[in-house]
Amino acid sequence: MKTVRAILPLLLFIILCFPAASVNASETLKRRTLDALSSFISQYENTAFGQVISLGDMNKFRMAFAQDLDVELNPDLGMSGKYYPSEARWGIWRNHLLELKSTDLRNDRVMITIYHESIHHLIYLAGGAPCGPEETYTELIEDRIAWLKRVAAFERYYERERPSSTEAFKRWNDLEKKWKHFVDFRAGSLSGPYAWQDPEGSTCEDPDRIYTIGPGFISKLDEIVGIDIDIRKIRAVYEGIWTGNDCLPGQHEYGGCQPRPQSGKQKKRGIECWHVRSKTHAGTTCICKDLLTGRILTGNSAQRHCK
Ligand SMILES: [Zn+2]
Repeated sequence: MKTVRAILPLLLFIILCFPAASVNASETLKRRTLDALSSFISQYENTAFGQVISLGDMNKFRMAFAQDLDVELNPDLGMSGKYYPSEARWGIWRNHLLELKSTDLRNDRVMITIYHESIHHLIYLAGGAPCGPEETYTELIEDRIAWLKRVAAFERYYERERPSSTEAFKRWNDLEKKWKHFVDFRAGSLSGPYAWQDPEGSTCEDPDRIYTIGPGFISKLDEIVGIDIDIRKIRAVYEGIWTGNDCLPGQHEYGGCQPRPQSGKQKKRGIECWHVRSKTHAGTTCICKDLLTGRILTGNSAQRHCK
């Protein structure tokens, strides 16, 4: 009896501390996940195309993560990650849950999973379902990420090889074709219509059902997440680099760029700069090209040359 009395405070201590410890672990993981998500979203900020795209509004992600979300590691998960809205979890007063098979945040696949599942949370909070057309949208976003990776490789190729504008456009046109038909499916455009088939119903519990989403639905969800990936804007940036013309997106469609006015063109130590409409839709941002090396400058390194 004496022993029981002696260990009772210890037992109480363990019972009280354990949930607190697990809550703290979830909070730490959540903070780390948000930081990694922030780096993921800004991964192209030093590229030319990165000046006119947005992979999401980080403030929206921060607000969504603050709304009753748990982030947990589950190495036994049958997929890389899953999002459960609170209604899909047992018990009342449960938070929404973002479950991850791995928390190796340096791993590209893990980061794409976190991005995918976080988008589900944002859409759910905005009144969408975590399945069907919404799932199709998150699959589309993953394909857009894969496409942007090719654009980044293309930009590195351009800086390295400094090809003629004819050669550069030829390669760009291949990328554009890929955008218009990214998946081997009857509807596979990254602007929509885009189709996705739920493999064996593993995600939406509706075996092999095919969902197709159109441009209107896609831009509605883009708006919720703050995603802006417009191939015309990206092309306009490259047209500016190769033709020496100003191609502000929205003003010119394919191939219709205006000769760059002298006033907006500055040559300093072989560096030429010009302005493109920025992804924030608030004014313009500066992109420069080192005429000697072909290197593209953005951000602060461009700002120094672009007054
Ligand atoms: Zn999903």
